[in-house]
Amino acid sequence: MNNTRQTADPIVRYRSVSKTFGDLTILHEIDLDIAPAEKVAVIGPSGSGKTTLARLLMTLEEPTSGTIEVNGELLWHKRVNGRLVRADERHLHKMRGNIGMVFQHFNLFPHMNILRNVTEAPIHVLGLSREEAVERAVTMLEKVGLGDKLEAYPSHLSGGQKQRVAIARALVMRPSVMLFDEVTSALDPELVGEVLAVIKEIAREGEMAMMLITHEMDFARDVADRVIFTDGGTIVEEGSPEQIFHDPQSPRLQAFLSRFR
Ligand code: ADP
Repeated sequence: MNNTRQTADPIVRYRSVSKTFGDLTILHEIDLDIAPAEKVAVIGPSGSGKTTLARLLMTLEEPTSGTIEVNGELLWHKRVNGRLVRADERHLHKMRGNIGMVFQHFNLFPHMNILRNVTEAPIHVLGLSREEAVERAVTMLEKVGLGDKLEAYPSHLSGGQKQRVAIARALVMRPSVMLFDEVTSALDPELVGEVLAVIKEIAREGEMAMMLITHEMDFARDVADRVIFTDGGTIVEEGSPEQIFHDPQSPRLQAFLSRFR
């Protein structure tokens, strides 16, 4: 497996990616590859740039410098006569189809039932027929344990159930990479477990690459092939869960982990 990872082209490739807001540099020349099917957990203190890292990939923020590739194709740029130029909205729209994201807040459509929440994008973005979209959506909703809630409206669901709908809604697009940004931090503690269990199950099944930003260290240890520790807008340390959690090298990571003990 490791050999495959080293030789396969990455699904996601950040090269020298920096992001500034005004005078503030939030990310400093980040290099990061995510291999096909690799699960990468991103941990680090608040404000260390984790969400920004994901938002750049989701095309919600534009890098100040550097490039990001998805499936070998530039995300934010196009090459014209050997020069990099900013890609147009059409290119970004096309590329977005490869990337799924689940946020802390679920952002479901309140006026649509669960099934319609999940079928909207496959119909209107992928151009699937209603029948195909419904078939895919039902499969996904069953996978996240909501096969009996197809007709329910978001306001009748618990936070954990809403988050599972949000996961199904992203998965139904069959993205090559899925981003999960602190998907349990807005949930009541008793609802966290059901959502993490669903993500673990999807991760175990496999083919999709995942970037998981999380404050749940046990979850990161269980689900990730590789853990990345960010601090001050840089990747300070990365390694297997074993290395990161049992043999952290940098004082900053050691200090960070000591808060969870
Ligand atoms: P994390 O996810 O690790 O908490 P973020 O990526 O959310 O970190 O934020 C990193 C830093 O960038 C924070 O200091 C935050 O205040 C700042 N930041 C994020 N988005 C913006 C923005 N749109 N404008 C200005 N500052 C921002």
